[in-house]
Amino acid sequence: MAQQQQSGISISPRLMIALAIAAFSLITYFSKSVYNPVTDQKQHVDMSPRQEIALGLQAVPQMSRQYGGESDDPEGQAAVDQIGNELITKTDAGKSPYKYDFHLLADDKTVNAFALPGGQIFITEGLYKHLSTKGELAGVLAHEVGHVVARHSAQQVAKQQLTQGLTGAAVIAAYDPNDRNSSTASMAMLVGQVISMKFGRSDELEADRLGVRFSSQAGYDPRAMLKVMVILDKAAKTRTPEFFSTHPNPGNRIKKIEAEIVERFPQGVPAGLIQ
Ligand SMILES: [Zn+2]
Repeated sequence: MAQQQQSGISISPRLMIALAIAAFSLITYFSKSVYNPVTDQKQHVDMSPRQEIALGLQAVPQMSRQYGGESDDPEGQAAVDQIGNELITKTDAGKSPYKYDFHLLADDKTVNAFALPGGQIFITEGLYKHLSTKGELAGVLAHEVGHVVARHSAQQVAKQQLTQGLTGAAVIAAYDPNDRNSSTASMAMLVGQVISMKFGRSDELEADRLGVRFSSQAGYDPRAMLKVMVILDKAAKTRTPEFFSTHPNPGNRIKKIEAEIVERFPQGVPAGLIQ
């Protein structure tokens, strides 16, 4: 005689736990919605700005080492500092709680610029030497400031935690920026994550829009960003710049940047901005 079949679906306890964790991380993700006044958006992040700053600072040595360390060109570093500072003090970016620091890195082969959460910003000598005006440098740095202000890293970490369940969230929750001993192995993993982070296309386009806004607020001609795109495009044809592994095709970005400039300046870009 056949055994009586159990009716209904039986769920193993382990699956129940996994489902509970997944549900919990989904609820956590969607309940942690924070308004960003600079970008005028609701965002899902579960790091405080203080944690972002601490995480970024912690990742600086590794990031810097990866691109030849800090540059020994004092004039270049001074130019990067000066324009970086203007992009914060003269613009809406200064309304964000971050601590900015601008690094020129010695690697002159790699054509790239990056931002870590909390305000640590980097440009390689490889990209710097291709720039011919202050406006172009302002455009590059303003784009990176845009990533910081829009909290793209924190959003990505929150998304990754959503897929990883609770582990990541627990690391963040346990992380006290004032306690050096809280930098555990999982913290090192998080540092690795933000260093190798690739932003999505929509993040890049948003950073471009913010770049137009911040560079023009700081007194630089935002059309210099279009020249940066041409420089990047040229560099792409002579070598394989790492920039394109982390940034979308410049050609596609030019049209969007042009549209943003027209939207900000419907009467045309005002005269007297620094080229
Ligand atoms: Zn970018």
